[in-house]
Amino acid sequence: MTRWLTELDRGFFDLAFPRDCAVTQEPMDDGARLHLSAAGADQLTRIHDPRCLTCGHPFEGILEGDRACPHCLDLQPAFARAVCAFRARGPARRIIHRIKYERCPFLADDLAHAALSDDVFRRHLAGSVLVPVPLHAARKFDRGYNQAERIAKVLAEHVAGCRAEFLLRKQHETISQTRLGRQERRKNVAGAFVVADGKSVDPSVRYVVIDDVLTTGATLHACAMTLRKAGATLVDAAALAHG
Ligand SMILES: [Zn+2]
Repeated sequence: MTRWLTELDRGFFDLAFPRDCAVTQEPMDDGARLHLSAAGADQLTRIHDPRCLTCGHPFEGILEGDRACPHCLDLQPAFARAVCAFRARGPARRIIHRIKYERCPFLADDLAHAALSDDVFRRHLAGSVLVPVPLHAARKFDRGYNQAERIAKVLAEHVAGCRAEFLLRKQHETISQTRLGRQERRKNVAGAFVVADGKSVDPSVRYVVIDDVLTTGATLHACAMTLRKAGATLVDAAALAHG
């Protein structure tokens, strides 16, 4: 029932119940997004330079020359660089929660669209193949969608030379990462991902692994590692928000 309503949300349901912005709760403007107005997007905390060239966390108030990033210090990721558009706090955090746990996949589309007004984020994606972090089949069935796939599709539609390819499969379910520490997260997702049946990696292509949130980078690292083991030579990562 809930999933059925979710799909209807983009259709005639809107006529009976006009949409409000997910952030401001005001009626939507006539912009490209259906549930996130320009005023709402302005309230999201954007990440600006200077930022960590590995995990994308902003260096707020840290002086040049002293920029060891505490967020990825011990990660040594299989991706070269991750870029994130927002901080996962305030309204952005709330939107991500609704995407993941409240069956609001349409908010993933809108948050991805809003991320593209960040030039650094957009340039990072340009010309690449976007590979969403897969969900385990059972989890995807329960949720009804994989938000990372939706995000990758929207980003690919709007960035020059980009395409989305669902290259990876999650072969076993992992326990929720939310209560795990840095090292535990890495162990939890190690070996969880494989190249999907019938898919192959092209060593001449630059891949960008896509997720909704980067917290410790463990999931993006595990996906990047799978692509590298399958022969990928250029692997980066991007998430809409940094935890
Ligand atoms: Zn970092």
